[in-house]
Amino acid sequence: MTFFITIIYKQIKNDKMKNVTFNTETAIEVAPLQKMLNYNGNYGKFGGAFVPDVLAAQLQKLSDFFDEITKTEAFKTEYVQILKDFVGRPSSLYLAKNLSNYIGSKIYLKREDLNHTGSHKINNAIGQILLAKKMGVKEIIAETGAGQHGVATATACAFLGLPCKIFMGAVDMERQALNVRRMQLLGAEVIACTSGNQTLKDAVDTALGYYIENPESYYLLGSQVGPHPYPKMVGYFQSIIGNEARQQILQKEGKLPDSIIACVGGGSNAIGLFCAFLDDKEVKIYGAEGGGKDIKNNTAATLNYGKPIIFQGTYSYCLTDDDNNPIASKSIAAGLDYPGISPQHAYLKDTNRATYFSVTDNQAIEAYQLLSRLEGITPAIESSHAVALALKLMKNKNQLVIINLSGRGDKDVERNM
Ligand SMILES: *Cc1c(COP(=O)(O)O)cnc(C)c1O
Repeated sequence: MTFFITIIYKQIKNDKMKNVTFNTETAIEVAPLQKMLNYNGNYGKFGGAFVPDVLAAQLQKLSDFFDEITKTEAFKTEYVQILKDFVGRPSSLYLAKNLSNYIGSKIYLKREDLNHTGSHKINNAIGQILLAKKMGVKEIIAETGAGQHGVATATACAFLGLPCKIFMGAVDMERQALNVRRMQLLGAEVIACTSGNQTLKDAVDTALGYYIENPESYYLLGSQVGPHPYPKMVGYFQSIIGNEARQQILQKEGKLPDSIIACVGGGSNAIGLFCAFLDDKEVKIYGAEGGGKDIKNNTAATLNYGKPIIFQGTYSYCLTDDDNNPIASKSIAAGLDYPGISPQHAYLKDTNRATYFSVTDNQAIEAYQLLSRLEGITPAIESSHAVALALKLMKNKNQLVIINLSGRGDKDVERNM
């Protein structure tokens, strides 16, 4: 026995031990594609800023400030440092072996669910509040539906030391009592909106009204919607997702993916992933919309069932009635339950660079349960739409695929799905 050990020990000693260096950290690249910065509010015929004059002046100021500060290294460095230390980036790109075997394609999950506060929304909240702070703003205001964006905003405001008001439909406040409590605990003032259906669209209208009356405040939009420069700013701050994922897949596989997939509400997590691959023509791009029951008047699949109109400050697709008035959307996923859509996704659809599918509530629930059991990861019901689309499109295709897992599903467990 002793003899044996001595031999092994000698072998190890003689085998001049190399000093192995472990490369554990993926360099984070926040600089988005130059092409994105060149967008000046127009994505083909979509986009723009359709707002009253008072707001136009404010948005122009905001746009100029954003363009200037994002040119500086100091701002980018500070932003990236916060994402590393406070948010926990880079998020991992995880090879989901069991799901891959089940589907018959090699599936990687971009784990935005691992971010602080549990979704991609914090990337944008931190970026915009940092920007607001540099502008000398005294107060942040934001709208929220299910409360995810409200919680991310309240968190970032606590971290950066700014007061915030969160506008929320009174009905949503009742449905999402836990998130209301969380926001209050973080120091936010939650304001109930009692007009209209008392849900997200009414919260946006009330917040916009407050913003017009209080131009010294900063309106923090949570998705890639609204007038210029919001779609550009939100796209910029979320581009961290795709820039990381592109480096990570090249590191792990030595090649680009065949396909990338994300769910689409307003479009921010999807554009975050897509933007780094837009120039790679061989990479196919798929968006999963909240299909609801997948029939007109019972859906949130804006790009599949809507038409272009001016809605909440931008020209893009929207769900409408026969007289072109916006109508309420319907989806099991609060984060996808919005009748409008990012003007950039409208452009990507019309130019056929990306393809958007309507995924039904039931398909999303199946994917939600499946991923939980197969991988030990419970995705947000929003993100489950992207997983469901992979189940449909990638079956036995032997493709290399990245799915953006935009958030975690703890918030959905209580609903007994
Ligand atoms: C808000 C939300 C979405 C939808 O918003 P996008 O702007 O389309 O990304 C998707 N997933 C999660 C987890 C969300 O919280």
